[in-house]
Amino acid sequence: MEIKCNVLDRQFKMYQEEYEEAALRVLRSGWYVLGNEVKQFEEEFADFTGRKYCVGLNSGLDALIMSVRALGIGKGDEVIVQANTYIATVIGITENGVTPIFVEPDEYFNIDAEKIEAAITDKTKAIMVVHLYGQASNMTRIAEIAKKYELPIIEDCAQSHGACFEGKITGKFGISGCFSFYPTKNLGAFGDAGAIVTDDEEFAEKIRMMRNYGSKIKYHNEIEGINSRLDEMQAALLRVKLNHIDELNRERTELAAEYDSKIKNDKIVLPKLRSGADSIYHQYVIRCKNREKLQNYLRENGIQTQIHYPIPPHLADCYKYLGHKKGEFPIAEAYADEVLSLPMYTGMTKEEQAYVIDKLNSY
Ligand SMILES: *Cc1c(COP(=O)(O)O)cnc(C)c1O
Repeated sequence: MEIKCNVLDRQFKMYQEEYEEAALRVLRSGWYVLGNEVKQFEEEFADFTGRKYCVGLNSGLDALIMSVRALGIGKGDEVIVQANTYIATVIGITENGVTPIFVEPDEYFNIDAEKIEAAITDKTKAIMVVHLYGQASNMTRIAEIAKKYELPIIEDCAQSHGACFEGKITGKFGISGCFSFYPTKNLGAFGDAGAIVTDDEEFAEKIRMMRNYGSKIKYHNEIEGINSRLDEMQAALLRVKLNHIDELNRERTELAAEYDSKIKNDKIVLPKLRSGADSIYHQYVIRCKNREKLQNYLRENGIQTQIHYPIPPHLADCYKYLGHKKGEFPIAEAYADEVLSLPMYTGMTKEEQAYVIDKLNSY
């Protein structure tokens, strides 16, 4: 059997008629960027996250970069971030000339809240929280620390659409919830797209201006903005998917429960859920000491897996200038050596999953 790590066309086929109708509606409308579909999607997504405002953008990275910038954080400032995240989180900080201060992850792959305070300095201007692989971070503790030091929280929700901590949805804890709708995300578009959600009217207004060359009124450029506009096609298609996101997330949760209960192999460490947190399983990430061997074995059996992520940002070539060394963040580095994402996608059949489990158990 051949099993890909991710398959995107099955979710398209599930709602094909709805997607095609939305796409045709946009094509025939004669309006293609920042129009009624974007406006509708923004309202619906603000609703989904329980926030007052949503601003549609070009990508998740833009949401992160613009959040830091709109908070007035710049050169000479520091932002705290977990050491085992995807590079985009860190670029969201460094693109503004800001220094990322890395903090080790906990056993749930999210920032270790108990290690945040030691990383705070006079220069710290925000805490960037990533709900990695779909699991909500320890938000009660993080919010406590943020309050004590009067630091804004920026949430990277690129992998956590709909995941909750103690019943509260991710994206609702910080001043800014940053979302990516890259096609592989749980709420994925059919191209690049992103958004920021917030309850702060002034912040929302600033992001709204910033995404369109810094203007509220055409050609009246109040601030130096960028082009990070969301297009009508992606917004219309996202509206269709948003209608089904709960069932799509539920399916992944069920697939995860099946992996949880059926994978039985001493060489493999299964992912854990923090008490109070839930996960939408953007990725189902196991750990294994001799990962390359396991990955090769699975490949030989037709099973594709992925590594999220093989090089922690502090050791990435592009961040040599930050001067970090191997051994500085041993937990993040161990994760980079041991993590492996198993196949997990909408429309994964019982037979496909049983095959993966069978091969894992006989490894
Ligand atoms: C995907 C992702 C991003 C970036 O989103 P894009 O839309 O690809 O720019 C940022 N952070 C995390 C954790 C991601 O997974």
